[in-house]
Amino acid sequence: MKDAIRNTKYFIGRFLRPHFGLLAAVFLAGIIAAASSGLGIPVIVKFVFPVVFHSAGDDVPELLRLCPSLAAWEHGTLLLVCCALLPLIFLLRGVALWTNAVLVNLLGLRILETLRTEVFDRVQELPIAFLEQRRKGDIISRIVADTQNVQAILSTVANDLIKQPVTALCSMAAFIWLLIMSGQGILFVLNLVFIGLALWPIMVFGKRISAKAQRAQESLGELNTTLQQNLETQREVRAYSLEKREVAEFRADSERYCTQYNKLVKYQKAIIPLLETVTALALSILLVRGRMAGMEFTDFIAIAGSLFFCFDGLKRAGLAFNRFNEAQGGIRRLAEILQAPNTIPDPAEPKRFPQPLRGDIDFRHVTFAYDDGPAVLHDINVHIPAGQIVGLVGPSGAGKTTFAGLIPRFYEATQGAVLVDGLDVREVTQHHLREHIALVGQQALLFSGTIAENIALGKPGATAEQIAAAADAAAVSKFLDSQSEGIDTMLGQGGSGLSGGQRQRVAIARAFVKDAPVLILDEATASLDAESEREIQEELDKLARGRTTLIVAHRFSTLRNADRILVFESGRIIGDGSHEELYAACPLYKELYDRQGV
Ligand code: ADP
Repeated sequence: MKDAIRNTKYFIGRFLRPHFGLLAAVFLAGIIAAASSGLGIPVIVKFVFPVVFHSAGDDVPELLRLCPSLAAWEHGTLLLVCCALLPLIFLLRGVALWTNAVLVNLLGLRILETLRTEVFDRVQELPIAFLEQRRKGDIISRIVADTQNVQAILSTVANDLIKQPVTALCSMAAFIWLLIMSGQGILFVLNLVFIGLALWPIMVFGKRISAKAQRAQESLGELNTTLQQNLETQREVRAYSLEKREVAEFRADSERYCTQYNKLVKYQKAIIPLLETVTALALSILLVRGRMAGMEFTDFIAIAGSLFFCFDGLKRAGLAFNRFNEAQGGIRRLAEILQAPNTIPDPAEPKRFPQPLRGDIDFRHVTFAYDDGPAVLHDINVHIPAGQIVGLVGPSGAGKTTFAGLIPRFYEATQGAVLVDGLDVREVTQHHLREHIALVGQQALLFSGTIAENIALGKPGATAEQIAAAADAAAVSKFLDSQSEGIDTMLGQGGSGLSGGQRQRVAIARAFVKDAPVLILDEATASLDAESEREIQEELDKLARGRTTLIVAHRFSTLRNADRILVFESGRIIGDGSHEELYAACPLYKELYDRQGV
């Protein structure tokens, strides 16, 4: 519970506070609506009805006794005013409720927008390892579904947790006052017992609802993961006839979600009937007691009305409280992202590289482990002078990609330091560091947009000439003729519409336009066929020229221009030299090389 309150405080402070004015208007409208229901209606029944139903010979109605000046009014006018009071109160209540509902909705939309964007923004900042350890579908579910859930709840909290208790309190005030006036103190005591009875299920169910809601949201995250994975692997699914298996998995996830959600609904929906039964019980006791004490009918109706509104307020406050509990699941899941410590922070007083950057790279006693796992790089000491082309080879899982990822600070060395031009990468901002590094990965990931736009991503503000020059250098120009609108052809998501080799060329053009002094080629041709690889190799050689280049090599053919090769095995560099030196002196290198029969 402490956690829930701390998290909620954090969310309220961060996402409600900026909308303080709107929130105040919501409160005001809510309080007017609450007071007109809780106080207005019982008071009308108690004071106005007796004036309307007054017959000659009856006692003077209470209202006229309290305000003798009204007695001087002409009878017809008084009746008219009295009868008009009821629709007036309902009009006031209606306008206040409408304003309240519209403003709450607006508040909700604003919260949702800020919340969603903040979570998305946070995802861009968090270390890559944090995201790699989570399933994409689950993160999408948090950004889309959990934010919506939390928004719905924050606006309910902002509204009902104030409005409904105020209704309950106003009706309670009316109720006590009416009881005191008709000398029924005992009913008040009885009523307190019933209020206690009403609060009990709200509190007990609250805890269950919070736990069930979190489980339901988690199941939804799993469902999204399965869906997303399936859409990403459609080719494999069809090629291996996995459709039935996929459908079965999706159905199982979907059923799990339904079961979890159903459990949540069972608790949610039990609150109203329970509270209504308690209300009916309280009313029947009032009926018996009223009959025994010979209570006036209008007194009885007024007291029953206030009692009804009091329990109705409690019921709605209870529902709001449970919605609040339900939100805790989503809040916890969002807090995990929003409050996750940034383990790769920028320095408080960042330095800048001397310009132009040469691209000298130095690993000093670098040890690295993913989170709490075992070290995957052990005490690496290696100096790569500016302009050197270095190949990284070794069995799969030996640590090559991790080693290369430490340079742009995708990961943070657990011990030791990585230096670029003599500056520790932790001393400059990540943005400044990455401005000087170009990366071409195994699968060129392109964005929706034109080919030119995709190339231009390498350098914000690149001119059309620079883009065209990069396209030429990467031989993108060679296949532009086959595209409907040349370089301005729109690409689908992920670059659909281009072959693997063509996509890779666009990615290489992006690196050309970036013109960074450090280049990382992470198995850049591994996903291509031999023919495309040969073609692309030329462009890659051109790109590497004059830059410090790290080539994570899958095939030895990509290393023909390497000045130096580092051989990795189980997180250690066990060989360092030219091809000839290593072939003669490093058995692992010789074995790997011979196996490929280059
Ligand atoms: P290589 O590039 O040589 O194939 P990697 O650098 O990808 O090797 O991986 C080195 C080791 O780190 C492997 O044992 C791999 O399982 C582990 N590893 C890679 N990425 C992660 C990750 N995101 N979280 C945990 N372990 C990882």
